[in-house]
Amino acid sequence: MFDDRLEKVNDECGVFGIYAPGRSVAELIYLGLFSLQHRGQEGCGIAVSEGNFINHYKNLGMVTDVFTQHTLGTLEGYLGIGHVRYSTSGQSKTQQNTQPIVARYQHGQIALAHNGSLTNAAELRNHLMERGSLFHTTIDSEQIVGLIASHGQDDMEQAMLKAMIDLKGSYSLVIMTENKLYAVRDPYGNRPLCLGKFGENGYVVASESCALDAIGATFLRDVEPGEIVTIDEDGLHSTKLFNHAQNALCIFEFIYIARPDSNIDGINVNKARRLMGRELAKEAPLDVDVVISVPDSGTTAAIGYAEESGIPFTQGILKNRYTGRSFIQPTQEMREQMVKLKLNPIRDALEGKRIAVVDDSIVRGTTSRKLVKLLREYGAKEVHMLISAPPVKYPCFYGVDTGNPEELIASKMDVEQICEYIGADSLHYLSMEGILKAVEWSGCGFCTACLNGAYPMGIPNYNNVKEALE
Ligand code: AMP
Repeated sequence: MFDDRLEKVNDECGVFGIYAPGRSVAELIYLGLFSLQHRGQEGCGIAVSEGNFINHYKNLGMVTDVFTQHTLGTLEGYLGIGHVRYSTSGQSKTQQNTQPIVARYQHGQIALAHNGSLTNAAELRNHLMERGSLFHTTIDSEQIVGLIASHGQDDMEQAMLKAMIDLKGSYSLVIMTENKLYAVRDPYGNRPLCLGKFGENGYVVASESCALDAIGATFLRDVEPGEIVTIDEDGLHSTKLFNHAQNALCIFEFIYIARPDSNIDGINVNKARRLMGRELAKEAPLDVDVVISVPDSGTTAAIGYAEESGIPFTQGILKNRYTGRSFIQPTQEMREQMVKLKLNPIRDALEGKRIAVVDDSIVRGTTSRKLVKLLREYGAKEVHMLISAPPVKYPCFYGVDTGNPEELIASKMDVEQICEYIGADSLHYLSMEGILKAVEWSGCGFCTACLNGAYPMGIPNYNNVKEALE
C-alpha cells in the first residue's frame, strides 16, 4: 500500500505554457522558466509538440544548467509547457520526479506540469493502483495524469472536469495534448495562474505575470478558481465546474514566494509587501538609526517600513546572487554554512549604528540567529529584528515548504523566546490584522493556514499529520 505520509514532493513550483502557431516555442518556454526560477531550483523540464507528437526533456538542476542551445534545438513545436521544481524531500530528488510528466493514454499523449500539493494523494494513488495503474514517480502530480486517463472514454475537457471532482488540495496545472493547451486552477484558487496574449494569435499561461513580461506577452487575466481554459486552433475558451464563494489564495505568495514585479489576482506583490512594511512600522515603531533588509525577500517590506517611519533605508547586507535559496541544503550544518556564503554584512553601513533588520519570515530560525550574530560582529550597536508577517506556526499541506512541523521555531517558542534564541535586542512580527490590511483591499479570500492553522481545503488524512498539529 502506498503511503507518502509527510513526504513533501511538489513544493513551490512554477509552471508555464504557450500556444503560438507559426513559432518555435522551446526558447520562449526557456525564458519563461528562467523568470520563474525563484519558484524552484531543483529541476526543470520542457515538453513541446508540432501538432502530432510530444517531445520532452527534463533533468535535475537550474534552467540554465539543464538546457543548452543544442537541447532546445531538438525541441521543435508551436505549443508546449514547462516546469521548475522545488522540494526538500531527499527521496524525491530524482530525475524521474521532475516535470512535465509525459504519458500515453487512450487518446494519445498527454503532458502535465503541476504547482501545488494534493491532500488526498495517497488515497488517489491507492485507488488507481488497485485498478492496475502503474506509476513511474513518487510525486502526487502523477495521480492527476492517472485520474484524467481513467476517464479516457470522455473528451479531454470532460475527463479533466471529472478528475477535478476527485482531486482534493491545491493545484495550478498546465496540460497539453499533441495539439491543445489547457490551464487548470483548483476551486480555491490556492496557487496563482495567469493568462496572457502572445503576438497575433498566441496565448501564454504562467504561474506569475513576470514570466509573461519576460517573453513580451500581454497580461489578459488570471485563470479563475475552478476554471479550465482550453487553447487550440479555435482560440481560447473556458469551462467552470465549481463556484466557490470563498477563494483561498496562498498568503505566503505575497510574504515570500512570488516576485515583487508580479501581479496575482489583481494584487501587485510589490505593493502588498510594501504595505506589510508600512503596517509593521505602525505596529512596531523603533528608535533606530537605519533600516536594512535581509535581501532579497525582506527588501520590499523594509522599504515600506522606512517610508512609513521616516527612518532611512540602507543596504546593510550583500547577497551573493549565485547561491540558491538556503533551504535547499538538507542538513542543518550545511544550511548554516549557506547563510554565511549567501549573506555578507557591509561594515561601513553598520558600524556604531542601531539597526532594524526586516525579513519576511523566520522558519527554523537559522538565518536570523546567524545574521544577528554577524551584524554585531560587523559593528552594529543594536540589532532589532522585524518580520513583515505573523509567525509561521503551522505546516503547509498545499505546496509550500515551510519545513516539518517540529522544525518551525514559532510552533515551539513564543516571541520572547525566539528573540532570545536569535540573540536580537528586540523582535516584532506583523500582526494577523496588519497583514490582512496589506492585501484584503483586493477583495480576494486568502489561505492563512501557515499562520493560524485554519486549513480551508482540509488536511491529509494521516495520523502523523493530526499528531503534528496537536
Ligand atoms: P530559517 O533560516 O529557517 O529561519 O529561514 C528563514 C529564511 O528563509 C528567511 O530569510 C526567508 O526569507 C526564507 N524562507 C521563508 N520561507 C521559505 C521557504 N518556503 N523556502 C525557502 N526559504 C524560505
